[in-house]
Amino acid sequence: MTDLLPVREAQENILATFKPRSPETCKVECALHRVLAETIISPIALPPFNNSSMDGYAVRSSEVGSASPSTPVTLPVSLDIPAGFTQQGVLADGTAARILTGAPVPDGADAVIPIENTDQYQRPQAAPMQKTVSFSKPAKVGDNIRLAGEDVQMKQVVLEKGKRLLPQDIGLLVSLGIREVQVMQKARIALFSSGDELLLPGQPMTPGKIYDANTFVLTGLLEDAGAEVIHLGIAQDNPESVKNTLDQVLQNSPDLIVGSAGVSVGAFDYVREVIEANGSLSFWRVNMRPGKPVAFGNYRNIPFIGLPGNPVSAYTGALVFVLPIIRKLHGLQPFARQALQVVLEEPLSSPDGRESYFRGIIRKEDGVYKARLTGHQGSGNLFSLVQANVLLIVPSGVTHIAAGETISAWSLDPNLY
Ligand code: AMP
Ligand code: MG
Repeated sequence: MTDLLPVREAQENILATFKPRSPETCKVECALHRVLAETIISPIALPPFNNSSMDGYAVRSSEVGSASPSTPVTLPVSLDIPAGFTQQGVLADGTAARILTGAPVPDGADAVIPIENTDQYQRPQAAPMQKTVSFSKPAKVGDNIRLAGEDVQMKQVVLEKGKRLLPQDIGLLVSLGIREVQVMQKARIALFSSGDELLLPGQPMTPGKIYDANTFVLTGLLEDAGAEVIHLGIAQDNPESVKNTLDQVLQNSPDLIVGSAGVSVGAFDYVREVIEANGSLSFWRVNMRPGKPVAFGNYRNIPFIGLPGNPVSAYTGALVFVLPIIRKLHGLQPFARQALQVVLEEPLSSPDGRESYFRGIIRKEDGVYKARLTGHQGSGNLFSLVQANVLLIVPSGVTHIAAGETISAWSLDPNLY
């Protein structure tokens, strides 16, 4: 076991090659899931003006204090204020203003009485406004008025640098009238698969062939993490094809090349040979399962990571080695993935003590996550990953964990990384 590189050491070696990309300007409508490269300070207050939270009548509360169903207070209606009303109205003494939700409250009014508490309730929408309105309930100062700045104050910090923007963040930026933001440039990752056995979706299945799942698994993972994926396609198992595949990066200089398969010691593993001839390659046996063989180096000075070919190993390798790089390129803390604490319902064994990532299924029972395995853990079994909702993590040096013990697990919910 001593010749196996600890996972963290391999991660640190790899990460040392990368530095964060630069900020760039991005239109707000294109900024979803991008990482903010500036702190946003609100240029205005929200709401920008006092406005009504109900359809009703704006009043001076002191003038309707005695209103009740048996002794209604009747006032003349002096103003009609729809949403989008552009002037600041003034409410004349002894009158009420019809007002719609979101419309500006006129100066002088200090409350809005909902239409339900007037004699205008259930009148047809299109009916002309009545000259008077009777109130069957009183109002207190401030009733049904949303005050300017009650949500956001001018000059308030609303979004911190380093936040990955969610739909509601974009909505807030738009509400604040902000048109462009500084975001981190996307990590650009060139991706290829390798192997004579691989078919593209739609190609007829023939003996000895399999479909190229890794391109799709890895593209999804990388794009979910906010990277831009540049597709290099499938390299065949010969040096010319591998070189032609890799040379496409000369046109688009990505931050990283990610390949799967073809980097072990098999007779047809030409990726290794071609990279060594045009760059350099360290081939590590990392103390983890699945995904022990990981290659790292550069091709024509562009960093390269070679993941194992088996789909579950490629997936786990991407989680452990590639996603932290993307986070670093985006200016984020590389190891931010949150672990859940789960209680095992069956024992786990990792006889050689490698750091192991088992495919598991968790469910909550009495507020506690209970975990079991999805079944056969062969690293070619993609369906067992599909059935999983967590990876159960057995730390290095641990060979057996009994049922009932608590261990860490990574949720496979993409919102957690
Ligand atoms: P290799 O590293 O080339 O020896 O591949 C290891 C295993 O992974 C073999 O069973 C391959 O057929 C399989 N494999 C390699 N690439 C892919 C891929 N893109 N999609 C699905 N399986 C793959
Ligand atoms: Mg192969």
